[in-house]
Amino acid sequence: MQIGIIGAGQLGQMLGFAARELGHESIFIDPSDTPPAARAGKVVRAQYDDDAALAALAEAVDVVTYEFENVPVAALAAIPDHVPVYPPTRALEVAQDRLSEKTLFEALDIPVPPFRTVDTEADLAAACGELGFPCVLKTRRFGYDGKGQAVIRDAAGMAAAWSALGGQPLILEAWVPFDHEVSVIGARTAGGGTCTWPLTRNRHRDGILRTSLAPSDEGALNQAARAYIDRLLADLDYVGVLALELFVSGGSLLANEFAPRVHNSGHWTIEGSATSQFANHVRAITGAELGTADCRGYAGMVNLIGEIPDAARQWSDPRVFFHDYGKSPRPGRKLGHLTVVADTEAARDDLVARLAASAA
Ligand code: AMP
Repeated sequence: MQIGIIGAGQLGQMLGFAARELGHESIFIDPSDTPPAARAGKVVRAQYDDDAALAALAEAVDVVTYEFENVPVAALAAIPDHVPVYPPTRALEVAQDRLSEKTLFEALDIPVPPFRTVDTEADLAAACGELGFPCVLKTRRFGYDGKGQAVIRDAAGMAAAWSALGGQPLILEAWVPFDHEVSVIGARTAGGGTCTWPLTRNRHRDGILRTSLAPSDEGALNQAARAYIDRLLADLDYVGVLALELFVSGGSLLANEFAPRVHNSGHWTIEGSATSQFANHVRAITGAELGTADCRGYAGMVNLIGEIPDAARQWSDPRVFFHDYGKSPRPGRKLGHLTVVADTEAARDDLVARLAASAA
């Protein structure tokens, strides 16, 4: 099949590689000059809201998908009805607004941190009074990797947070004193078949994912996380891969957000699982059955951010796999990652710690 992919970053690249292995071809749409996914298919250079380019892409493909969640929903209307867009547009719409996202979590009995909507400075003062300090003010739309948010530690910090973010729809969340963060990634086909990878434990710094460990032994929380993602997949009549990010706090889970796409915390599945998140996304959107999410051992992932150290390229341990997205270095930019697959949890944790130290 011909697959149209909106966005040609590293997620598009890895989707394109998986599509190729499954016998499909990918055509990407992306405004940048040298996007990473150019290695994995043809790239049409156009803005994401270029109706003519999207309509032309739709003419050339059997199905359209996307690799990032800030795709303008209105632009997808340029795609004629006979070309399916997966994941469904409703998932994209909900994920683009933190208020809709949290409202859906609550409707599905998925616990969330206490939150309030904030549109004015008076709303902010009232919401801080109700939720207490510390708390975190976030833009409802277009936030990613910790951008578009401000932690408020006390009443004196409200004005600074308002001047940084005020003037757009906001949400205030209680600060969660979490033990750690996890994600659960699942896939669903149009026929309702699902597959869920085991919980992944994630460590962020400055709002950016640094390392992931999977499987992460979270005891009973594994079952709860599976139940939550199953409810989301079913309610959204979802097709493709979805990632749900959660806090582990006081022995229970609180949902933070979901991404209607393949996710950085699932990169370990390329080598660490019988079927990768990329392969199952392609399978789901092309109408194939899903592969299993069985683990091949204990996997870990270390992001390479800002620069790729020589040590990352030269690692010769057969348990370590290096991925270079082919991007030019820039502070804070995700340039590649290392995956580890080890026989024991201890060996995995040791290798990830050493790789993370060399990548820091
Ligand atoms: P987000 O953009 O919502 O994924 O937030 C980025 C990161 O900020 C998360 O991965 C957490 O590490 C942290 N964070 C976000 N919201 C909260 C919260 N309510 N309490 C504590 N930490 C948070």
